[in-house]
Amino acid sequence: MKSTSDKATNPCAVFRSPPAAESSRGEQESLRSWIRRLAEFNHLALADVLKYYVLPIPGTGFALAFEGGATHLIDRGASLSRGIIEKLERVTLLAGLEDFTLQSLLAINGVAPIVASRYRKWCGICFNEDRHTEAGPFERLLWSINDVVVCPKHRFNLTSTCPSCGYSKIPALTVLEISGFCPKCRKWLGAESHENAEVPKDFHVWVAESFSQVLNHPDTHNLDASESIRRVLNEARNVFYDGNFSKFASDLGKNKSATHYWIHGLAMPQWNHLCEIAYALHISLLDLLCGRVHSLPPLSVQLMRTAIQARVATLSTIRKPFAPRRLDASGAIAAFSELRAGGHPHIISLAALSNYLKVDRSVLSKFISKHDPAFMEVLDDRLAALNKTKRDAHDTKLNEKILLIAHQFVKERESYTRRSAADKLRGEGLRLSYQEYPIAYRRIQECIAQILKQRPEQV
Ligand SMILES: [Zn+2]
Ligand SMILES: [Zn+2]
Repeated sequence: MKSTSDKATNPCAVFRSPPAAESSRGEQESLRSWIRRLAEFNHLALADVLKYYVLPIPGTGFALAFEGGATHLIDRGASLSRGIIEKLERVTLLAGLEDFTLQSLLAINGVAPIVASRYRKWCGICFNEDRHTEAGPFERLLWSINDVVVCPKHRFNLTSTCPSCGYSKIPALTVLEISGFCPKCRKWLGAESHENAEVPKDFHVWVAESFSQVLNHPDTHNLDASESIRRVLNEARNVFYDGNFSKFASDLGKNKSATHYWIHGLAMPQWNHLCEIAYALHISLLDLLCGRVHSLPPLSVQLMRTAIQARVATLSTIRKPFAPRRLDASGAIAAFSELRAGGHPHIISLAALSNYLKVDRSVLSKFISKHDPAFMEVLDDRLAALNKTKRDAHDTKLNEKILLIAHQFVKERESYTRRSAADKLRGEGLRLSYQEYPIAYRRIQECIAQILKQRPEQV
């Protein structure tokens, strides 16, 4: 990131830029984290900064990003990021803000587009270390990649649950929060103690290190990887499998037709498949993307096949978490009666119950239909009750907003149309179905008529 002029002191910039966070390789800050720090450094509410200076389209864009839960796309480097960067560069007079996004990965040709992690994840040790720096806690861009689940610096599993209140599936950016603190309970998100922490899987460490290497590496700028991937796959197939296609695909643990498509350049592999292939072939992700066939290990055919099979075997244990096929019948029956009595309110589906009983879902389903078929109704009722609560909350909010919008129209004395009413509803953060808009519009009309009847002087 470069400034077009003296950024910190330039009187023309609307905002002062926050102190730069450490940016050694793999430590690059993510755009949403930088925006959060920008608001904090300028003593402004994040919601206002976003609404008036950052999001490309005020109102609808704001609703889209926040009510639609699309905030993770801020880091992705596609159109939302570009719109935000354009606006930010104008108010901060900085340039090169796209380095805060995954744009360099998105620009690589021949691989399916990178997936940004929908929910927030972080390394508690990184946060603890950041506390002593001028920049304070910040989120690394690497953590925004869906496939990265480990901090490569500390070899520590990334956390996605608040250690104090258990809040999980935290949206990538919420409007009320402070860097490094939980948006719900406002407590510190750093690691409490990491002595007994779970050791991350070798593959996950490898993935995190690989992405950290590929991200912003000069060799990957506008790289066309489709030819490279084909070259490496063909070389491995010809040298170690004597051209035998099915054996090669089956040892890689990949679908035969998918491998066929990749080798012939008819389809683009997704990043997670590409990682698994590179890991299995003992070649770095960067070398695979750059087509460096000489980086394949110089092993004999038999040794290489064994090495591939060994790594693919560890992958299959990672992919399928172990769920026992045997069910503890007395434990299950006890749980059924607890649920009937209203216990475990968070269990509303068969999946949640099978998680709780630590048993495979199909086994549990068979057990219920054989021993207690009426039990399914308990779960159905719970789901129906939850949906009703959600619907009621939606209706209450809609009614409030309809009244508010009707008053706005009367107050501003503007002529209202179906379209301006829909814009206002969206601006209030409501997401309605197509059938709901005309109904809401009719109710706004009725409300306006009623207000005018009570206050005839407004006509
Ligand atoms: Zn870390
Ligand atoms: Zn919390």
